[in-house]
Amino acid sequence: MAEREAHKKSLVAIANPDFSVPANTVDLFNTSRFEQAVWEKGYAVYHEQALRCPCSVPGTTAPLSSCLNCGGRGWFFVARRETRMLISSMGSKKDYTFQWSEQNEGTAKITSSVRDKVAHMDRITLLNSMAYHNQALPVQYSQINDLWYMFTAYPPVSVELAYLFLGPAQPLQYIEPDSIVIKNQMLVFPANLFSGLSSPVVQVKYKYQSAYHVIDVLRDIIRTREKRTDTVTPVEVDMPQLSLGRRAHFVFERPDVAGQGVFDNTRYVDQSCHRP
Ligand SMILES: [Zn+2]
Repeated sequence: MAEREAHKKSLVAIANPDFSVPANTVDLFNTSRFEQAVWEKGYAVYHEQALRCPCSVPGTTAPLSSCLNCGGRGWFFVARRETRMLISSMGSKKDYTFQWSEQNEGTAKITSSVRDKVAHMDRITLLNSMAYHNQALPVQYSQINDLWYMFTAYPPVSVELAYLFLGPAQPLQYIEPDSIVIKNQMLVFPANLFSGLSSPVVQVKYKYQSAYHVIDVLRDIIRTREKRTDTVTPVEVDMPQLSLGRRAHFVFERPDVAGQGVFDNTRYVDQSCHRP
């Protein structure tokens, strides 16, 4: 089964930051050890920074469905970097009898280093995770490139199942997953599948890497005082952030734009940025 090459690497190796504790630190609590714990216990993730797209439908605050910067989502994501964060699902607190609903499904707490500067709507992708998602989506046709395509909620790693809906009185038509080409957050279908169909709908199940959007920053980077043995006045240090994340497809269904993808606005001058 065709898989994106980028996912084939297993556990990723990232350069170790310096966590040395100043010799004059009082051994009660210090940020270096806290940051070190986030690094050592954290998952390898991609962190993408979110920026609000200024496009809008005239007279409203709704994003433009034709905007190739945000893909009709109102936000674009830049400067993808590899780092580590502590991520714990909040699923254990679910009360299925009273409180459970789509409103609170798929949330996780994310502890991140001061270095990462996490903000509202940033996207966090777990590199060594695997999840499956299914969607029934309309297939769009591009006249310029003469191809049929659809956007998905997550960049697929591989397609597991695909069926074409022909109508309520007809059986679904199986589509061979290997015939579908994965292109970032898009699936491209063989053209001959849809001859004679004006607005085809395809059901797909695909594998992806878990991704969250930050929907709330629970604890900002707060400057606290750290005691040292050689000074009376405590030293001021920044503490890690705690955020609330939500599975990406609960925040954005998928890019909804006429066109084959959105622009990558990242400036790759900074070598730590990873191309999608
Ligand atoms: Zn836009």
